[in-house]
Amino acid sequence: PGRDTVRAAAVLPYQDPALPVPQRVEDLLGRMTPDDKLGQMTQVEKDALVPRSDLATYRIGSVLSGGDSTVSPNNAQTWADTYDSLQRTALTTPLAIPMIYGIDAVHGHNAVRGATLFPHNIGLGATRDPALVQRVGRAVAEEVAGTGIDWSFAPCLCVARNDRWGRTYESFGETPGLPTAMTSFITGLQGDTLGADPASVLATAKHYIGDGGTTGGVDQGDTRLSEAELRAVHLPPFKEAVERGVGSVMLSYSSWNGVRSHAHKYLVTDVLKGELGFTGFVVSDWAAVDQLDGQTGFTGAEIATAVNAGVDMVMVPHDYKKFLSLLRGEVTAGRISQARIDDANRRILTKKFQLGLFERPLTDRSYTSTVGSAAHRSLARQAVRASQVLLKNDGAILPLPKTGKLFVAGKSADDIGNQSGGWTLGWQGRSGPVTEGTTVLQGIRAAVADPSRVTYDRYGNGIDGGYTAAVAVVGETPYAEMRGDRPDGMGLDQEDLQTLARLKASGVPVVVVLVSGRPLDIADRLPDWKALLAAWLPGTEGGGVADVLFGDHAPTGKLPMTWMRSAAQQPINDGDGKTPLFPYGHGLTYGTDPGPDPDPDPTPAEACTATHKLVNSWPGGHQAEVTVKNTGTGPITGWAVDWDLGGATVTSLWNGTHTVTDGRITVRGTGSGGTLAAGATTSFGYTANGTAGTPAPRCTPA
Ligand code: BGC
Repeated sequence: PGRDTVRAAAVLPYQDPALPVPQRVEDLLGRMTPDDKLGQMTQVEKDALVPRSDLATYRIGSVLSGGDSTVSPNNAQTWADTYDSLQRTALTTPLAIPMIYGIDAVHGHNAVRGATLFPHNIGLGATRDPALVQRVGRAVAEEVAGTGIDWSFAPCLCVARNDRWGRTYESFGETPGLPTAMTSFITGLQGDTLGADPASVLATAKHYIGDGGTTGGVDQGDTRLSEAELRAVHLPPFKEAVERGVGSVMLSYSSWNGVRSHAHKYLVTDVLKGELGFTGFVVSDWAAVDQLDGQTGFTGAEIATAVNAGVDMVMVPHDYKKFLSLLRGEVTAGRISQARIDDANRRILTKKFQLGLFERPLTDRSYTSTVGSAAHRSLARQAVRASQVLLKNDGAILPLPKTGKLFVAGKSADDIGNQSGGWTLGWQGRSGPVTEGTTVLQGIRAAVADPSRVTYDRYGNGIDGGYTAAVAVVGETPYAEMRGDRPDGMGLDQEDLQTLARLKASGVPVVVVLVSGRPLDIADRLPDWKALLAAWLPGTEGGGVADVLFGDHAPTGKLPMTWMRSAAQQPINDGDGKTPLFPYGHGLTYGTDPGPDPDPDPTPAEACTATHKLVNSWPGGHQAEVTVKNTGTGPITGWAVDWDLGGATVTSLWNGTHTVTDGRITVRGTGSGGTLAAGATTSFGYTANGTAGTPAPRCTPA
């Protein structure tokens, strides 16, 4: 009987976490049927899986949520439940290969109501702070992991060269250097080693290559450049992403000199996989393969072209049955080699193993409560503050006095949807109270000494001469991709112009806060305004804008894009000899200039991680311990760790203090032993009632 037990417990080599990943991959490949392999290369939109059991029936290897995907009720818990139920279905196949689930968490976990939404990439680029952006990536990873999801289609490493493009805000900047520096976001998402911790989320460098360089800034258009120019401008961020170990690359809908990326064997196989040495997998964009011939709907020829060019996983939004049968036909006919299919499978399975999906296929619920947590919101507010670019400040009207009588106006002053932009609770985003957060107006009211001295009227009606200043929050309403292309005028809309005219007529000095996904054509209005602050698309934490308006933080952001004098100048970029309204890198501050831009060194000198261990637990209470490790390169002289216990009562702390904010308890342990040397750890603990204490603690160097 002893022997039988041993035999029953024995695992196959691919199931053995002690074996090296390449060995597990080869073992698994050897056991897979031809259909298992085709399924791994197929990615289907969650809502298209009808019935859901098709996930197992067709051996589908990946599920995605496109921009409009949602769950009901839309909260982190339900997303995690949905994930787990799909994963359980995937695990019913004979080899129990877990699915990998991808989503566009492009500025926070933006499909989930209540998630923390960070500035869109254009704002992060303005911070010039890769270490901060890495911390943002880390926070996003925790929120994504809290819903089970394994993979984010981010970051967009596009180098946006023409602001008419509707995806300009998804770009960290117009120069190759800024997106390259901001690949730190990848390290934030994945961690230093993919899968080394449970909140490691697979990143995607997208869209390879030249998406931001199309003629006229037309989305999905043609990028007409010499190879030397393509390599000089659009390749560097991808090179850096590969060096950082990015797990996946998404191809661009666009073409290079008339040939689509999805059909470009030289760019995908020779350059990306060969020359750059990319060992992860290449995923197509949404329905990009079935559009290769200019018409929707798959043909075998399109599939063969894309897979032979180097596409490893095809994002097939809907018709997976047709796709699989055509793919099978191409392999049978010998137009796609078995070696290519095996190579694609190796690449995909390697990432699944590295992520730990075989060992931990279901949601780690300890991260679920990080979605929208106070710590993440405070990081987002910090990012908002750092992303503000002060373009004009006549007579030092900013910072505003907190004791003044203020008039706030404009369609984006009190609108979470507008300040979050596209990819927010829906592909296109929309105006209105789409999720929880702080509007700019709420941020202003919270900052001033007496909120009753702040008057708000969206349209600027009712203003008279008795105000210290008027703050107008105007700009663009949400859009995404081609729907945001602006081939014509790039100015303010009629509502904004009328609001601004009312303010001007009052004679009160006007401060304009521009909420927009790109520079706008405002040169002719600028003389009317005393100050202009580019707020980009800040996300849910409008308090960060107020922090800068009132001088709690001096602005430090620098333009990540050259600001046109008129739309006719598009494309306008740094160093191209045109005379802009504000040059690339422009950004004022209060008082003396803080000096050169922060060093874009992606390795934070100060960084720490905190892990949480349940020491003891009994009905209604538990005892836990948190360990802090210095993961930075230098010593940490002060640090703080906190986590959200969801309203539980902390009865005793072994070492440290706790605070209660907004009805939630934050336990905060403060380093007491002075310096925490690089690589060193320290611990402290607490006893709490009413919760299992699972939320992961977060650690901040102070
Ligand atoms: C976009 C991608 C996105 C994909 C999945 C496409 O329309 O171009 O950036 O990742 O949809 O939602």
